[in-house]
Amino acid sequence: MRHTSKSFGKIENMLMLTDYRVRQRDYLLEIARALTSRLDVSEVLRLILGASLAMLGGEVGLIALREPDDRFRARASVGVPPEKLHVFKPLLESILIENGDIQYSQLDLKMRLVARALDMRLRQAITLPMVMGGQILGVVFVFRSYVGEYSANDQSILQSFADQAAIAVHNAQLYERLSAEQQRLSAILEHSADGVLIMDASQRIIGFNKALERITGWRQAEALGQLHDSIFFWERVEHGQPLGAALASGWAQRPQADEDEPDTRYVEGDLRRRDGSRISLGITYTALFDDDGRLQNIIANVRDITHFRRAQEAKSAFISAVSHELKTPVALIKGYASTLRREDAHWDEATVQRALAVIEDEADRLAALIDNLLAASKLQAEGMRLTQVSEVDLVELVSRAVERFQTQSDKHRLIVELPPDLPTIRGDEMRLRQVFDNLLSNAIKYSPDGGEIRVTGSFDEQGVTISVSDQGVGIPPEDLPHIFERFYRVDNALSRRTQGAGLGLYLANAFVKAHGGRISVESTLHKGSTFHVWLPRPLA
Ligand code: ADP
Repeated sequence: MRHTSKSFGKIENMLMLTDYRVRQRDYLLEIARALTSRLDVSEVLRLILGASLAMLGGEVGLIALREPDDRFRARASVGVPPEKLHVFKPLLESILIENGDIQYSQLDLKMRLVARALDMRLRQAITLPMVMGGQILGVVFVFRSYVGEYSANDQSILQSFADQAAIAVHNAQLYERLSAEQQRLSAILEHSADGVLIMDASQRIIGFNKALERITGWRQAEALGQLHDSIFFWERVEHGQPLGAALASGWAQRPQADEDEPDTRYVEGDLRRRDGSRISLGITYTALFDDDGRLQNIIANVRDITHFRRAQEAKSAFISAVSHELKTPVALIKGYASTLRREDAHWDEATVQRALAVIEDEADRLAALIDNLLAASKLQAEGMRLTQVSEVDLVELVSRAVERFQTQSDKHRLIVELPPDLPTIRGDEMRLRQVFDNLLSNAIKYSPDGGEIRVTGSFDEQGVTISVSDQGVGIPPEDLPHIFERFYRVDNALSRRTQGAGLGLYLANAFVKAHGGRISVESTLHKGSTFHVWLPRPLA
């Protein structure tokens, strides 16, 4: 028997009731039953402590559990106000584990200190170690104001109680650890950026994480218990087979011969969301089997591939736009040049001049496009660096650009309203010219009915703002966040017939950013757009 009882101070007589032992045994049985049905550590400890105090007639009780570093920490107490719990610290520190056995150093002294600190007339401390499978799990301390003695029978009752208690604590601790682990796993699944769907063998949904709510528009509570096909409905399948078809063709009938190779199926396409809208998804289904080779679960990893799709679409739109952009001027140049060269024809001077002017314009356009392409690929490869930084007079730079563009269109009225005292900034003149050329060229391109194109400016201590506004087609709000992306073009009738590779704004944005500036846009559909370029002023 490893429990110890110590007395201190003057020994007092203990009142012994005749039926005490009978009550003790009944109580013990009742408690043992209650203990084995509890899985909550705190509740188990409360029960143990309550029973110990009742059996031993104690007034103050404490249970300390052993921590992984072999220290003992108070986990439950009775008869001690929470703010006084610290008085047990020296007592808990006096517990030593030696050769797998429990020892207390100066238990008497520590006890007296506790009694004094609690301002109570406690005279005896009984310690009940809780041991399971040779492992010490913790200690129950019972303090009472009288000194009692134990018979061999008392001791055996206490011992069997302590054994029961140890088992109950052990079980509850295991359960606590398991639930914590399970909670951690669920949290990982719940907060995974990709959708995670768990189904039983009959494709009924038993797990549906947060990301799936966002992806499908269905709430978790609505989806749980539903069949896969009532939530996942493909509008269009681009690769692979939907789950139903894969299962019908024999997938997931039995475990794969190679167990290391997961048995998966991939399907990609457009799914119908709850509100009827579409979303591009890639779903990987994995089949899980039990030990008898029966299908147990199907897990689906659901990935939103909208961005990837958009990039792919932009790329192919870019390739067709660029080849069109390159082919048109080349065809014009070639056409005019071979016409001029015809030996059987004698062209008058005016015709020759007109043809040469077209050739020159088209060659300029080609050169500008090639510039943009090179700048974009350079930007992609090595980022943006300004090479030739000097003092730039924006009034002059913008006015010259406007003059050049005015000669290209008589449908548009280009107006410059810049404050004459607009300060100069430090920048790369060639890059800045490209920025305003792109903005002006867009303003003309995307206002096919003509109208005013106005360039205004303002400044303060921090920087200079130049705005270019047009009265053109405007930009739909859903496209606004994307127009500065590489190869992005708004898809409408006008953009389909106007030339462009979706690089102008991407480059303008990169160039302005390289100057430490910002570019932004405001637009109203069918009314017009305004692009603001803000460039920082050098520090005074
Ligand atoms: P693009 O070569 O297609 O003109 P940009 O990068 O210059 O490429 O512009 C991207 C898209 O933004 C254009 O395709 C067009 O749809 C839209 N856009 C740009 N500027 C304007 C504008 N001033 N008015 C209306 N839409 C514009």
